[in-house]
Amino acid sequence: MKKKAIFEQVSHLESQIGELYEQLGDLKKQLAYLLEENQHLSLENHHLRQRLDHENEKEQTASSRDSKQGRGAVVGEGYDNLARLYEEGFHICNLHFGSPRDEDCLFCLSFLNKQK
Ligand SMILES: [Zn+2]
Repeated sequence: MKKKAIFEQVSHLESQIGELYEQLGDLKKQLAYLLEENQHLSLENHHLRQRLDHENEKEQTASSRDSKQGRGAVVGEGYDNLARLYEEGFHICNLHFGSPRDEDCLFCLSFLNKQK
């Protein structure tokens, strides 16, 4: 009977290892997803920071002539910036602003059309 007990223990252990292996697989999948998401967010953050720096520089050089040119020029420039951001593959709509875009987004497009 002792042999049978050992055999049962081994097969119990085997099924536990199987479960653990499955859990490990799930964790690996989640890790891969998180790494990918992290990569996306880093890239997006980098992109937005660059843009922000760029905008700040522009704003500083533009602020002196704004007083002469009035608001129309500022609105036009804002539109160009948003259109460029959209062309570069980012959402500019309220729903997903700043996140990477794979396909055309109707919200973004209608937003752009409204601004024209
Ligand atoms: Zn959008």
